Amino acid sequence: MQLSVVAELPTAAPQPVAAPLKLWFDGALVDVGTPQASAHTHALHYGSGVFEGIRAYATRRGAAVFRLPEHLERMRKGAELLGMAFDVAQATEAVLATLRANRQTDAYIRPLAWYGDGSFGLDVAGHPQHLMVATSSTNVHLNGNRTRVSASSWRRNPASALPPLKLCGAYVNSILAKREVKARGFDEAMFIDDAGFVVECTGANLFLVRDGRVTAVEHRDALPGITRDTLLALTGAESRPVTVAELLEADEVFACGTAAEVSPIAEIDGRRYADGSPVSREIAAAYAGAVRGEDSHASAWLTEV
Ligand code: PMP
Repeated sequence: MQLSVVAELPTAAPQPVAAPLKLWFDGALVDVGTPQASAHTHALHYGSGVFEGIRAYATRRGAAVFRLPEHLERMRKGAELLGMAFDVAQATEAVLATLRANRQTDAYIRPLAWYGDGSFGLDVAGHPQHLMVATSSTNVHLNGNRTRVSASSWRRNPASALPPLKLCGAYVNSILAKREVKARGFDEAMFIDDAGFVVECTGANLFLVRDGRVTAVEHRDALPGITRDTLLALTGAESRPVTVAELLEADEVFACGTAAEVSPIAEIDGRRYADGSPVSREIAAAYAGAVRGEDSHASAWLTEV
């Protein structure tokens, strides 16, 4: 039988064809679909790469990248560990050029440096290295303000085995934890250590609020987050090790990260935090002001595009 409804559909007005997004790849801006990786790419097999997650925001003075030097310095440290050359000035230019080419103001920025084609051996010496920068319109990491968290049974990569930097392979640890708790119906996993101390989430750091006092969870195995550092500066919060028991007794808990921003936690393993999270929301608003340059002392954190 033929479907007659097709003929009844109004004719759609021709849509302007959007220009393909560009990404920066080894020194040039190319269409997003253009670069192709060989199946022998070393990083594909062993995670021999390092990346960053950065954000740009629309500010009164136009688009600006938040804490770009700090992100690229962290990436440089990861590259150095892997024995890669990493030119911060070149990476800075690549980030800005990609944002300009894509005419993005609010954007998530993903630089990635990795080892390419070569042998299957683990020695990276002699492998070609690549650098790309991709940007996308802002994505949200955690589930808005209703994030339900569960402690994973997986331990975080210990810093003594894998330093807390954004090394590609290290994130398999986060993927395992996320998969585990999602199978149990939660949104996000929290890592705890053998002694019952809180480490961090899969891609965000944790804070607690108790009697109006704000505390940043500190742990040697956690990534020293740039958002965490920003919030310490904005709030004057203390930073110290925190046990799971203390987290469960807190009035509010929030996760923070470049993608997550300040994300109040609704529940940790059945412990529900009262609706409202007033202090977390206040901090979220202060952070939103800082990233958009509305806070005068935060303007030093912005790199104009
Ligand atoms: N922990 C992990 C494991 C992360 O991947 C991230 C995201 N980079 C964070 C914490 C938060 O770090 P930042 O605030 O620098 O984005």
